[in-house]
Amino acid sequence: MKSIRRLYKVGPGPSSSHTIGPRNAAKMFKQKYKSDKYSVALYGSLAATGKGHLTDHIIEKELHPSKVEFAWFPNEELEIHPNGMIFSDGLNELEIYSIGGGEIIVQGFPSTDSEDIYPQVDFREIKNWCLLNEKQLHDYVYNYEDDSIKKFLFEIWNTMKNTIDKGLSKSGILYGGLDVRKRAKELFESLENENIFKIESARENALVSSFAFAVSEENASGNTVVTAPTCGASGVLPAVLKGAQSKYNFSDDVIVDALAAAAVIGNVIKHNASISGAEAGCQAEVGTACSMAAAAYGTLLNFPIEQIETACEIALEHNLGLTCDPVLGLVQIPCIERNAVGALRAVDACDLSNILHRDNKVSFDKVVQTMYETGKDMNRNYRETSQGGLAKNY
Ligand code: SF4
Repeated sequence: MKSIRRLYKVGPGPSSSHTIGPRNAAKMFKQKYKSDKYSVALYGSLAATGKGHLTDHIIEKELHPSKVEFAWFPNEELEIHPNGMIFSDGLNELEIYSIGGGEIIVQGFPSTDSEDIYPQVDFREIKNWCLLNEKQLHDYVYNYEDDSIKKFLFEIWNTMKNTIDKGLSKSGILYGGLDVRKRAKELFESLENENIFKIESARENALVSSFAFAVSEENASGNTVVTAPTCGASGVLPAVLKGAQSKYNFSDDVIVDALAAAAVIGNVIKHNASISGAEAGCQAEVGTACSMAAAAYGTLLNFPIEQIETACEIALEHNLGLTCDPVLGLVQIPCIERNAVGALRAVDACDLSNILHRDNKVSFDKVVQTMYETGKDMNRNYRETSQGGLAKNY
């Protein structure tokens, strides 16, 4: 498996596969072939939801001042992945795929991916390593990554906190025509109102939700977020971490360990299945984020690794079948609320694991495999095309 640096990326929302990936593709093509005019053909999900996800905007921005002509093929998919693009300068052409979380691959070229730095390929092997060495998930990360990984994780955590702060300070209407009102600030400010939150657990849930809304509204605005594992699902993990820090006063050092543990889960899913909504539906995005957040929360609460596995398994299992059907191709409905629900579900999964981990029947690896197979079986209307579900019936 690759370094966790490939999982946590800082970049513009609203969708890593529709903004960060295409931006990276445009940057790569521009460096290879200089021209004052380009054409870009977008296929599959990139064409179906590219307008709402700002794909054309981000490519134009990257190729500026060159002119860009777009062609849209929402009902056609290229060979390797539903998010395909063909870049051309009139003489040269490249088929590039945005495969999730901002990663790209170029057909006919060797992968530019960095080396695998983790020899283990699934959770079972990682758990065995941890048990054998009497280590925890974050120790596993620090064992294989280079010395600067903690510094990297601190930067990631600081970016997440900044995004939360920015999201909590804004109000107004999100762009795109749905007239969705930003609600993070209102949610956060309402916490003091005892007439609304009559019991403490409701107040705690609302606090965590306000953090998820803050990040997701920043993401929906095209502002800077951290992919965790994607932009669309970027609100779940920071909300759980910030909620836990507010409640228990965890230091940033401890939070960074939890971020490392969460990355292991994201990496296992990315390596063995998919983190792309266009490939496997929202279960691959918010489902993965929920499972990552369960690993983080379990690490903060000092769960043994067997219990962390159960919590992550519960978190992913109960997102199985979750479709991706963003209304108008915007990452707003159902995405913003879904991030809040994903965060709360991660905490619930950890609570349930207190009892259930003693005789859990389903391994984490099995549920990852099931998520991928479910995604492959999913009708394409429910895989980030905005042609089914809420996007159709809204
Ligand atoms: S429904 Fe889920 S996967 Fe689809 S755009 Fe929204 S957050 Fe991303």
